[in-house]
Amino acid sequence: MADLVYKFLIGEEKVYPGALSCRGCGWALLVRHIASILGENTVYVVPASCYSIIAGPYGYNHVKGSTVHTVFAAAPATATGVRAALDRQGNKDANVVVLAGDGGTFDIGLQSLSGAASRGERIIYVCNNNGAYMNTGIQTSTATPYGAVTTTNPNPSYKKTWPKDLMGIVSSHNIPYAATCSLAFIQDFRRKVERAKNADGFSFLMIDGPCPPGHKTDPSQSISIARLAVETKLFPLFEVEHHRVKINYYPKKEIPVEECLKLQGRFRHLFKENATDALKTIQEQVDSNWKRLVKLEEISYQF
Ligand code: SF4
Repeated sequence: MADLVYKFLIGEEKVYPGALSCRGCGWALLVRHIASILGENTVYVVPASCYSIIAGPYGYNHVKGSTVHTVFAAAPATATGVRAALDRQGNKDANVVVLAGDGGTFDIGLQSLSGAASRGERIIYVCNNNGAYMNTGIQTSTATPYGAVTTTNPNPSYKKTWPKDLMGIVSSHNIPYAATCSLAFIQDFRRKVERAKNADGFSFLMIDGPCPPGHKTDPSQSISIARLAVETKLFPLFEVEHHRVKINYYPKKEIPVEECLKLQGRFRHLFKENATDALKTIQEQVDSNWKRLVKLEEISYQF
C-alpha cells in the first residue's frame, strides 16, 4: 500500500501553501511532486520564468529546500556553481535542480544548458514547456507549436514554423537520462523524477505544461488536455538513456489532433470556416514525428 501511495501521491508535503500560480497551472502541481520525491536537501535554481513568480517574492520560498534565483541565460551555469560548492562541503547527497520554462531552455539559456550537459554536471534540469513566454505576456518562443497564436504571432500571422527538437538536441550530448513527462501520467512522472535523481550525471526532464491563460483553456481541463496531448501523439511520452530511446506509452487508438487542439483558444482560428489546411499540416507532421520516434526506438537496441 505504501508503495502504491508513493507511486501516485504526495506523501509528505514539501512545499508551503499559497503558491502564486494561476488556477489550473500544471507547473505548480508538478513541482509539488518533484519536491516530495527529492526532499529538503535540495537546491532549486530558477531562471526568469513563471516559477520565479510561483516561488514568491524576496523573503519567501515556495519549496522546503533552498532556492537560488538567477538570470534567464545562466541557470545551468549557476547550478554548476551550486553543485561544486555542495560537493566541496561534502554534501554530495544534495540534489541540484533547475526549474526553467521553455523560453529559458529552448532560447535564452540554450548555450548554458549545452555546456552543463557536455560537462556531465550532476544536475537535474526540468523544463516546463508551455510553449511561450507566459510570464512576460505570452510571447512566441521556439517551443511555440505550429498553428498557435501568441501576442507576437496574433491571428492571422499565427506561428508557422515547428518547435526545435530539444529532446534530440539535449540527448545528443550523450547524457545518462532524458525524458518527456505529463501532468496526466503522474505515476510515469514520479518514476522519471526518481530516475533523474539517481542518474550518474546530467539529467533532463521536459514537461508538457498546461497553462490556462496562455493556452486559453478552462483551468478545470488542464489534466484532460494534457492526457489528450499524449493520446493524440502531439506530446509522446518517451525516455532516452544515453542514445537509447524507449517509448513509455503507446496510445491504444488513433485520435486526431483536432480533439486536443479544439479545447485550446490559441488554436481557435484553425477551426473557422475559411481556415487554411493548417490542421492537416499539423496532423501530417505529428504522424511523421511519431513514426520517426518508433523507428528510433526500434534501432536503439541494435547497437
Ligand atoms: S502563466 Fe501559465 S505556467 Fe505561468 S503560472 Fe500561470 S498557468 Fe502557470
